Amino acid sequence: MNKHYDIVIIGAGPSGCMFASELYKYKNYSIALIDGQTEENKKPCGGLLAPDAQKELTKLNLTLPKYLLTDPQIFEVETIDLKSRIKRYYQRHYLNMDRYKFDKWLLSLIPQGVNIINDRCIHIRKNESIYNVTLKSGAEISCDYIVGADGGNSLVRRTLFPALTYTYTSIQEWFKCDKGLFPCYSCIFDPYTSDSCSWTIFKDDYIIYGGAFKTSDCKKRYEEQKLRVEEYIGYKFGKPEKTEACMLSSPRRWKDFLCGKENAYLIGEAAGFISSSSFEGISSALTSGKMLSLAFINSKKSKNVLKLYKKYSFKLRIKLYLKTIKRKILCSPFLRFIIMKSGIKSIKKY
Ligand SMILES: Cc1cc2nc3c(=O)[nH]c(=O)nc-3n(C[C@H](O)[C@H](O)[C@H](O)COP(=O)(O)OP(=O)(O)OC[C@H]3O[C@@H](n4cnc5c(N)ncnc54)[C@H](O)[C@@H]3O)c2cc1C
Repeated sequence: MNKHYDIVIIGAGPSGCMFASELYKYKNYSIALIDGQTEENKKPCGGLLAPDAQKELTKLNLTLPKYLLTDPQIFEVETIDLKSRIKRYYQRHYLNMDRYKFDKWLLSLIPQGVNIINDRCIHIRKNESIYNVTLKSGAEISCDYIVGADGGNSLVRRTLFPALTYTYTSIQEWFKCDKGLFPCYSCIFDPYTSDSCSWTIFKDDYIIYGGAFKTSDCKKRYEEQKLRVEEYIGYKFGKPEKTEACMLSSPRRWKDFLCGKENAYLIGEAAGFISSSSFEGISSALTSGKMLSLAFINSKKSKNVLKLYKKYSFKLRIKLYLKTIKRKILCSPFLRFIIMKSGIKSIKKY
């Protein structure tokens, strides 16, 4: 017979881990947490922990162990507009981390009673009030509640909910590089190849060059943009040591933020909870995971969980909706030119 759980969570990124840990501490549901990430198949990420994510960890009484950090720590972003060729520096405060180790650390905080299954979910179907989940290994499990914490290409969202209107393909390449040749962190705008932004981030002995591109011809646009950046900075990246790619959500409308329906819920990037202006998503993943756990803990009847989750996540959704307006401003070549030309809020270097 299939194993039956109260709750099955698909995805053990920050949202899934946070939800599982925080719920199990206070309510003894039977929970399965399924995740397909492996050492060979790591999730692409810049690994920058923004102030909002740091604040969320503080609220949970968590501090970051030193072994998660990579070199250097970041307190400025160099912003480059390749069209107008204007460059500005802005103050930012990020912790530079090894993202894979961060996910593993969050996983290690989950109480023992949660059944962590290292497998991929390949199929979900609803049979009356029960969700049946098929895993790549061939195993079948079922549950009363299903939680989609499976990121930007969420199977739970694609199966049970309307898809996000807009997604990019994000490509990142890792190059061996000596420090000092680049800023620690830069943000690059190039309207000829993308209507979004790209970035370089130093991580120990590597520089990551990554960006978000329209899926149809993403690799061609990425290569074209890389050439334009190389020409601008007068440096060739060379042969990448590693290339990675994945879907990246870019919510555009209020209804792109989805909390759930019936007994199926979405958290983190699967719910559209990511900043569409900077692609900072770890903080929203942690916050939404915590909010859904609170909704389960505080609701007396199962039908109230969704109502409470919507209420608790309202502020987060407003904040992320305002980011969609910020994205429109920053990604408009004309408005960006005005802002960067004015030098407003930028740091002048000696
Ligand atoms: C290239 C790139 C760079 C980024 N850089 C940053 C950054 O520097 N800082 C920041 O704050 N945010 C960044 N983000 C965004 C951030 O990574 C995400 O928004 C955040 O990780 C979302 O957390 P999550 O828990 O919702 O999902 P995820 O972290 O995506 O976790 C989803 C998990 O679900 C698993 N999964 C997916 N599908 C299945 C399945 N079918 N079966 C089983 N398991 C499955 C995956 O293996 C993964 O472990 C970046 C995103 C990209 C693509």
